[in-house]
Amino acid sequence: SCGLLLAGCLHGALGCRLRRGMCFLHLGGLRTALYNYIFARKHQGSFILRLEDTDQSRVVAGAAEGIEDMLDWAGIPPDESPHKGGPVGPYQQSHRLELYKRASEVLLENGAAYRCFCTPQRLELLKKDALRNRQTPRYDNRCRHLSSERVAEKLAQGSDYVVRFRLKEGVEPFHDLIYGWSKHDVATVEGDPVILKADGFPTYHLANVVDDHHMGISHVLRGTEWLTSTSKHLLIYRAFGWDPPRFGHLPLLLNKDGSKLSKRQGDIFLEHFVQDGCLPQALLDIITNCGSGFSGNQMGRTLEELILEFDVSRITTHSALLDLNKLPEFNRIHLVQQIGDERLRQKLVMELQMQVEKVYGDRLVDREVLEKNYVERVLLLRKGHINRLKNLVAPEYSYLWVRPSVSREQLQTISAEVDEIGKLVIGLMEGPTAALTAEGLNEDLRGLQEQMRGTEYSSMMKLLRLALSGQQHGPSVAEMMVSLGPREVCERIKKALSN
Ligand SMILES: [Zn+2]
Repeated sequence: SCGLLLAGCLHGALGCRLRRGMCFLHLGGLRTALYNYIFARKHQGSFILRLEDTDQSRVVAGAAEGIEDMLDWAGIPPDESPHKGGPVGPYQQSHRLELYKRASEVLLENGAAYRCFCTPQRLELLKKDALRNRQTPRYDNRCRHLSSERVAEKLAQGSDYVVRFRLKEGVEPFHDLIYGWSKHDVATVEGDPVILKADGFPTYHLANVVDDHHMGISHVLRGTEWLTSTSKHLLIYRAFGWDPPRFGHLPLLLNKDGSKLSKRQGDIFLEHFVQDGCLPQALLDIITNCGSGFSGNQMGRTLEELILEFDVSRITTHSALLDLNKLPEFNRIHLVQQIGDERLRQKLVMELQMQVEKVYGDRLVDREVLEKNYVERVLLLRKGHINRLKNLVAPEYSYLWVRPSVSREQLQTISAEVDEIGKLVIGLMEGPTAALTAEGLNEDLRGLQEQMRGTEYSSMMKLLRLALSGQQHGPSVAEMMVSLGPREVCERIKKALSN
């Protein structure tokens, strides 16, 4: 998975760590990114995407672009990033190796770090022994005590080594923006951690400290899984003599039942929601609605409102429970808002035009159904009834784009008065008084039914619905007539009667 680790601001940063297999943005990462974006906006800071790609075995081609594209899609683009650049770049850790190497030399010189020549075999044996004794595996810090002569000898032999950070006992507590006072005496539970690997690449512990310092990061908001490592990171800051940023650890985002939001479910990656026609605004809304940081939970908040209401002191340590079953409703609400907004509606019109062209293409009634006015009318009429734009290109709405094939015979099974009904409706549509609102048409249709000898109102509606759409269910007949327009209504009735 791709864990978006940190970010922050006044000069904020968002780190992204690449792991093998999948490295695309998932909902948990999106949430971390969003909190950082909001925090940066709130405090006039910068939102930085930094790519943590120093684990070469886990780097996935295209992952960086994927993450940046998804942040753009979500409407929370970084101010500085590998793609955009910026004043404190490069923003890819694999391009900053010299910096980490120099930093590790500083720590080697001042005694805060040392070279470890232990072979992978020895470390493997240590691990097996610990597991056999039911203990947590940890490095035994053996190379801490190598004499300088021995080190020189090993280096002269060209032995591989890693650089380890010397953990000190007695860490100072730090004040987490969310968890409050916190400390983890790492030296008593862990062996000295590797900060520079044999291949010259840094581990996260070193790279994040060095980058946060050089990039001027003032605040780090990252997932709660890093809370216990923070004491270790603070020891590294102290070894360099640097002031650390402020940290805030975000509680977990879990499924509604409290289970882990897992990539195994496959549907938590943003690509899935893009393909599913989900509005980014709905996604941002749902992942902040289940958590904290805002004055209350309320559906339909826009990003601007989220920024306005956000207060980091309102984030609690409770896990946020996400109910994805509610996503369609969130999407419906945001769709209503966007259709109601002149500027956003034009974007939806263009999007729907593209989808119609893609799905129906050369089967279209005529090119006029692709015109802006027609598509916009459809959107306005269906507002509140759809929870995805793509609902409107589904088979139940195909009548909006292609003529149904309905036979006279089918219509006659509903009422024998097909010709009379057809004639009256055509007359109504061609007449100068035809009111082109669903409300007005409803009244007109009631009036027409009174002229029938033996057809009930419900049968007349059933017949017209079939003639106009080929369907037995759907929007009201009056609404169908408004969306299709008088000319198309007449065409369809004439066509059905002559079939
Ligand atoms: Zn060693």
